[in-house]
Amino acid sequence: MSETVERHEFGAEVGRLLDLVVHALYSDREIFLRELVANAADATDRRRFEALTNEALALPPDAKVLIAPDKAARTLTISDAGIGMAKDDLAQNLGTIARSGTRAFSQALGDKTSEGEDLRPSLIGQFGVGFYSAFMVADRVTVTSRRAGTDEAWTWASDGKGSYTLEPAAREQAGTDIVLYLKDDADEYLESYRLDHVVRKWADNIAVPIAIRDAEG
Ligand code: ADP
Ligand code: MG
Repeated sequence: MSETVERHEFGAEVGRLLDLVVHALYSDREIFLRELVANAADATDRRRFEALTNEALALPPDAKVLIAPDKAARTLTISDAGIGMAKDDLAQNLGTIARSGTRAFSQALGDKTSEGEDLRPSLIGQFGVGFYSAFMVADRVTVTSRRAGTDEAWTWASDGKGSYTLEPAAREQAGTDIVLYLKDDADEYLESYRLDHVVRKWADNIAVPIAIRDAEG
């Protein structure tokens, strides 16, 4: 590990939440894409809003959410030109649970499963544990981000097992790339038609344009 890589432990609740999300919601795992696309769209909306009072933050005219599978690398990348995250934002937003999420989520999961499985996907969104759903399909996730209005980029990386790293990175423009290193049993998310199906099913109401790149490799 190079000197510039910092390792941090997850907040105590994150470990428990990751466990819940990865195991309890396994059968609904395609909704990871809804969660990541929703975050990308939220970040885009937020930049558009901040640009109203700060022209320097204006969105590029072609701003969209790009979903890019790479068969050779077995990665799925979700990119946006949104507000982005500075180093502290990465640590705060992805390394801790700011609200009282875990207990309420776990409680609701117990309550709702008896009423039927279909209620479970909505629980993730409801309790704001969306990002961690990436670990349902990926055994490693990296997030490279540059906050709009700054020229520094950072990469957050984790295998979802207790700790994450932060290191300086490069990114041409403001925004965020989420790279999922897919699990062996998650090959289906390298197929454009499958991604298209999930986006139509779950992300149909999102106002920011969404593009799916044809799989490479
Ligand atoms: P929620 O969306 O309910 O806040 P998530 O777990 O989905 O919870 O995301 C946690 C936080 O991480 C978000 O609130 C946001 O601050 C940050 N975040 C996640 N994805 C992005 C992104 N693509 N761009 C900027 N910030 C993001
Ligand atoms: Mg979210």
